[in-house]
Amino acid sequence: MTPIEMKLSKCLLNLASNEFSSHCCNDLDLVNDIGITPDEALELKKAMYVWQQDPEITEPSLDNLYTIDWLAMMYISHKIDVDCAERIRLLEILPGTHKSLFDRVQEIIHISIDRLRILKTLEAERDEAMKREAKLREKIMKLMPDFCPVCEGGRMTSDGCSQCNWLMGENDELL
Ligand SMILES: [Zn+2]
Repeated sequence: MTPIEMKLSKCLLNLASNEFSSHCCNDLDLVNDIGITPDEALELKKAMYVWQQDPEITEPSLDNLYTIDWLAMMYISHKIDVDCAERIRLLEILPGTHKSLFDRVQEIIHISIDRLRILKTLEAERDEAMKREAKLREKIMKLMPDFCPVCEGGRMTSDGCSQCNWLMGENDELL
């Protein structure tokens, strides 16, 4: 509810306490009875006009800032219903929204943990493979002659002969 509508509801309650039903006049002076400005009164009257959806009623203007008390009561009762329904809807939706968000975050965390685990495994496998390769190179270096047995001039390195690129292992009979 807007502050103006709250003032209206307060005014209506006061009217009711003054034996509202026995009144012979049903005019409600929006400006003086509620205690709002003419512009605020016009805004309220326009909102009621939209709610009424009656093509026979002329669009409100500053020339007439009166309404009918029982009509204003019906309008404010409608507004309270709308507000209550909206609050109930939010109360029902919010816990569900929080739960689905929470589930999604949990899911993302689990995916991240799984990915980290896979990454760690791959890193461990890579380190193991690098160790095995280093050991193999060491073995090859021990077996390797200083000079190339093929071209007999090149110096042997772990990448093969520096001259003819012969690599140990390509010719097993020489091992
Ligand atoms: Zn060579």
